[in-house]
Amino acid sequence: MINDRYDRQMRFDPIGESGQEALLRAKVFIAGAGALGTHAASMLVRAGVGHVTLIDRDYVEKSNLQRQVLFTEEDARQVLPKAVAAERHLKEINQTCDIHGIVGELSGHEPPEVFRQADFVIDATDNFETRFIINDLSQKYGVPWVYGGAVGAAGTTFTIIPGQTPCLACLLNHLPILAESCDRVGVIAPIIQWVSAHQVTEAIKWLTGNRPAMRHTLLYENLWTNEHAAIRVDTFKNTHCPSCGNKRTYPYLKPASVRTSVLCGRDTVHIHPGNLAHPDLEGVKIRLRQRHLSFVNHDALIQVMWNGHRVVLFHDGRALIHGTKDVHEAEQIYLEMIGTELNK
Ligand SMILES: [Zn+2]
Repeated sequence: MINDRYDRQMRFDPIGESGQEALLRAKVFIAGAGALGTHAASMLVRAGVGHVTLIDRDYVEKSNLQRQVLFTEEDARQVLPKAVAAERHLKEINQTCDIHGIVGELSGHEPPEVFRQADFVIDATDNFETRFIINDLSQKYGVPWVYGGAVGAAGTTFTIIPGQTPCLACLLNHLPILAESCDRVGVIAPIIQWVSAHQVTEAIKWLTGNRPAMRHTLLYENLWTNEHAAIRVDTFKNTHCPSCGNKRTYPYLKPASVRTSVLCGRDTVHIHPGNLAHPDLEGVKIRLRQRHLSFVNHDALIQVMWNGHRVVLFHDGRALIHGTKDVHEAEQIYLEMIGTELNK
C-alpha cells in the first residue's frame, strides 16, 4: 500500500494505484533547470516520479526568481549552479525520490547514461541547438520527449514519440511558429506554467500507461491576445528525415568541439572549450589574486569581474562572459583569464 501523500492523484481514475506505482518506478530526464525545468521538476517530484535528473549549464541570478519556481534569493546570493540549487530544493520537497542535478551541457557525443535509460524526456531548454541534440538522442535511444517553448505571453508544445509521430526536424520546415525568438520581448510566468502543465501531463500519461490519451497536436497559446491553435502534425512526418527517416545520420550527435554561442535575449556569450576540458583553476586563481581581484569561488564555479565583464568560469571549463554579444571579444577575455589557447 502506497502512503497517502499521493491519495488525491490515485483517486484520479486513469492513474489509480497501479499508475502511482508506475510513477514511483519511472525515470525522467529534464534538459534545463530554468523556468520550464523548475516547474516540471517540482510537479514531477511532488507526483512521486521515482528518478528525476536535471541538467543545466547556468547559475541562479535574481532576475530568474520572477519565473523559476524552485530558487530563492539566497541561491542567487551564493551564485549556485541551477542544477545544484534545484536538486537541493527538490530533495526538500520529496525525500523519497532519487534526484540528480548535473552541472553542464547535454552532449550529443557522450550523452549521460541517465538519458539513455530515461522513460521520458522534458525539453526545458531555451535554444534549438540543444533541442536538436535531444531530438536525435530521442530517436537513437527510442525515448519519447515533449517540446516546450515560451516567449512573451505565447507558448508552444508538442510531443514526439519515436516510431509514431514526426520529430522536431520533420516539423521545423513546416512551422514558422517554432522560429527561435532571441529578442528582448521578455516572458511572463503564466505562459511558463501553461507550457509546463501540458508537458508534465503528457509525461504522466505516458509513464502511467495511458498511451491512447497522448496528444497528437501541436498546441499554441497566447495568454495575452487570447489566440490559440491546435495543429495536427501527423502528415509532416518525413521518410527522408536525417533524424527519424529511413536512412538516419543523427546530424546533431557529433563529437564536442569548441562552441561559442550568444545566449538568448542576454548580453552573454557561452564558451564550451571542447577538448580543453580541464583548465588549470589554481592558475586562474593565482592570476586573479595577482590582479587583486576579489572573486566568488566554490565547488562548481569561479565568478569575477574581469575588465568590466562579469565572468563565470565553471570547473568543467565552460564560461559565461556577461556584458557582450561579441564572440571574439568573449574568447579573448576567456583566453586571458585561463592563460591558454582555445583548441579550434
Ligand atoms: Zn524527423
